[in-house]
Amino acid sequence: MRVSLKNRLEEINRLLFVSQGVASAIEMDTAVQPILEGVMAIGPSSARVVLAQTNALDMNVNMPTRFGLGELTDEYADLDNQILGLTQKQDKVILTNPARAGLEPANDFPPPATLMAVALKHENVYYGALWLAYEQPRKFNQEEARFISTIASQAALAAANARLYTSAQMGRQRLEAILASTPDPVLVTDHRGRVLLVNPAAVNLLQNGPEITSGTPVESFIQQEELIALINSLEDQPQSAEVSFPGNRIFNATASPVLADGQLMGRVCVLTDITQFKELDALKTEFVSTVSHDLRSPLTLMRGYATMLQMVGELNEQQIGYVEKIVSGVENMSRLVNNLLDLGRIEAGIGLRPEMVDVTETVAQVTEGLQIQAAQKQINLTTNFPQEEIPAVEADPALLQQAFYNLVENAIKYTDRDGEITVSLAAENDMLVFTVRDNGIGVAPVDQPRLFDRFFRVDQKQSNPQSGSGMGLAIVKSIAERHGGGVGVESQLGQGSTFHLTIPLRQPK
Ligand code: ADP
Repeated sequence: MRVSLKNRLEEINRLLFVSQGVASAIEMDTAVQPILEGVMAIGPSSARVVLAQTNALDMNVNMPTRFGLGELTDEYADLDNQILGLTQKQDKVILTNPARAGLEPANDFPPPATLMAVALKHENVYYGALWLAYEQPRKFNQEEARFISTIASQAALAAANARLYTSAQMGRQRLEAILASTPDPVLVTDHRGRVLLVNPAAVNLLQNGPEITSGTPVESFIQQEELIALINSLEDQPQSAEVSFPGNRIFNATASPVLADGQLMGRVCVLTDITQFKELDALKTEFVSTVSHDLRSPLTLMRGYATMLQMVGELNEQQIGYVEKIVSGVENMSRLVNNLLDLGRIEAGIGLRPEMVDVTETVAQVTEGLQIQAAQKQINLTTNFPQEEIPAVEADPALLQQAFYNLVENAIKYTDRDGEITVSLAAENDMLVFTVRDNGIGVAPVDQPRLFDRFFRVDQKQSNPQSGSGMGLAIVKSIAERHGGGVGVESQLGQGSTFHLTIPLRQPK
């Protein structure tokens, strides 16, 4: 009894040694040593752990799959693949004459006389096999079989851990490789605004003193307040801002939150160099304003001479018709050129002369002026002013009138005969809201976001397409924004549209 107790204690000690070894290792080659040593305690000529190949491509690259201990382990290694085949079908295999079952090493070495193989399975996933072989015939008692099964379950755990570790390691390396080769600067921070990862492009852009390492707070190396605010923002939506860097470089920075279980873990900030786009945009604006400026005088000249033609001699009817076409063409071009110049001036902020404007009066003038155009299409153009008096609004009167005019004129242009147009005014929360509602042709949802862009016009498929330059709404938007306000539209194709213009009642001092 004492002997059996002693044996049992030794077995428990060995198992303890194996499980400590497995628990303290994350890589397979370290974990497998105590496992093989544990198996060797029952005296085989070879103890082997063999891992099956996985389908995941990246995992087999760095992970060794064959391990052995014992004097004949190299000689018997030839049987590894056959053992894998066997244990895939059966969890535990004991063969007293493996050669009879077709298990023979390909080398000339005689096959083992006895062999035991156990499948390595963890949470129902097959990882490979643990197997031991003897040169001489041998029987296994119950304790030995139980001992090997327990060691095999430890080996399976080690294989599962190693695979998990390798896959996490590969994922990290892949991410680092992607980040390193990304030309855009990328900065990953934790929830307190300290650097977790930074790619070489970001180091190039942001590092101007000591090295940026993991844990460096962003304030210590970023000078741009707006970029720091973006990275430290508490919003749970991505935020963007334009950020200027020395050397006249402009970047568009987007910081997106990294959330885990709804908790903000940190932010990923990607910077895109938009210097060239900015330069192109400035060039385009300058080009447009130069060209429109230079076109103004020749157009005035052409209009003048074309109208004078009738004064210097008798014209026949056909000639009069041609002259009218020339004059109307020149007028269209002048209108476009004036619009372009206006827009340039409004955007540059030149000539904004705010004064106290009686907007009810301005709207009345605009609608009265457009009643003739409305009447020509039998459109009912009405105003809807609130009972209480609208306070005077601090704005540039000429620009405000132009914005109202453009919106009401559009409503008439894009509403069919016998339509209804209502112009209303309201003062809400220190803001003036000017609304034009029509039951005209409407705008499809795809076109709505671009309506206020310069030169944007909806493809007109209706029977009498309207002429225009696509500048009217861009001017309305610029005027609203110059006053610190905005524009908006709700529309349904074929049903009608409602355009709003909102500006603050008072301009900031
Ligand atoms: P234009 O009228 O000179 O084309 P705008 O900038 O004023 O340029 O308008 C841009 C486009 O928006 C128009 O071409 C038209 O397709 C659409 N649009 C503007 N107002 C309305 C409206 N009230 N109803 C339907 N479509 C409109």
